[in-house]
Amino acid sequence: MPSVDPDQAIGREPSVLPKAAIADLVAYKPPLSPMGSKRVIKLNLNEGALGPSPKAMAAMTTVAATMHRYPPVEASGLIQAIAERHGVDAQRIVVGCGSDELIQTLCLAFLEPGDEAIHTQYGFLLFPLAIKVAGGVPVSAPDDGYTASVDAILAAVTERTKLVFLANPNNPTGTYVSSDEVRRLRANLPSRVLLVLDAAYAEYVQRKDYTAGIELVEETDNTVMLRTFSKMYGMAGLRLGWAYCPKPIADVLYSIKPPYGVNYPALAAGIAALRDTEFYDRSLAHNTRWMPWLQEAFRKLGLTPQPTVANFMVLTFPDTPGKTAKEARLFLASRDILVRDLASYGIPDAVRLSVGTVEENRALVDALRVFMTRNARDGDSV
Ligand SMILES: *Cc1c(COP(=O)(O)O)cnc(C)c1O
Repeated sequence: MPSVDPDQAIGREPSVLPKAAIADLVAYKPPLSPMGSKRVIKLNLNEGALGPSPKAMAAMTTVAATMHRYPPVEASGLIQAIAERHGVDAQRIVVGCGSDELIQTLCLAFLEPGDEAIHTQYGFLLFPLAIKVAGGVPVSAPDDGYTASVDAILAAVTERTKLVFLANPNNPTGTYVSSDEVRRLRANLPSRVLLVLDAAYAEYVQRKDYTAGIELVEETDNTVMLRTFSKMYGMAGLRLGWAYCPKPIADVLYSIKPPYGVNYPALAAGIAALRDTEFYDRSLAHNTRWMPWLQEAFRKLGLTPQPTVANFMVLTFPDTPGKTAKEARLFLASRDILVRDLASYGIPDAVRLSVGTVEENRALVDALRVFMTRNARDGDSV
């Protein structure tokens, strides 16, 4: 066999091609998030403001000595702990390496090549990506402003529709669809369509007309709810999520998932995090206090914070040169404050940012005050 000189191979047609469905995929590149000792204020990934629960950190270290063992998902007690905390049936819980893995697994399990899956206009970018990886066809349903439209989703249904993804609350917009509207969606979708409710931010929502979807999962045989430990529980780095499913769907997911997708430290930390209600209450109180504080401060600076029920918001900037969203993002980055660019989501005049610690929130507002009050001419130097 002639060997290929890697340098010469560059620029040539590759010998091996990926399957056609994924040939034109652009990777979901997580935005810049430097590691290390430099103090950076990271408000760009919607992570929990207060870090992880101290009890979860302690539990994680207790399993260090058993890292030579494969993780005992069934025996760990995590599924039982989720079932107890949420009052749900343990048999229908599927745990995964973040809810990202579960989104991918659902697509792989339910989409035949060419099947359509609906996501919303300003919906989570991983939905169309996972749909394409599975060989499906993503179909975007227009939003009503920044909120998902049940009518638009229903209008997008065709003979080939197999899945509907609804992030509720939605990322990146922070808006939600009421439980009555979600019910209306389910009732009017064909029964062959699986409805996936991604409730990654459910813990933060303080609205009486919101539900994450547990009842709907239990009342129907074609609805799945996804949850994560990445946001309120502050465990994004450990990768832990779960799905609540009708039993036959849970069985399908378990049949194709990698058996050891959830790591040992995540199992231990997850159990401890679920039991640490003091940390949970503190995190919720922090968000409930500081979200309105930030919004009010932004309004005073002449900016437009969009309504949100989660731990992050869309913040709209003027289109005046020197004061645009892009310039603000670069200005903040030059001061080691990271916020999320929304151009890739089709919202170029805004950034997305999450609630941080008290100190971080103040630093953000101080920096934006400088940005908004500086001379337009200073803009050239950023
Ligand atoms: C952050 C987020 C998730 C969580 O993903 P993990 O893989 O569990 O970290 C899921 N869905 C949405 C819409 C999110 O914003």
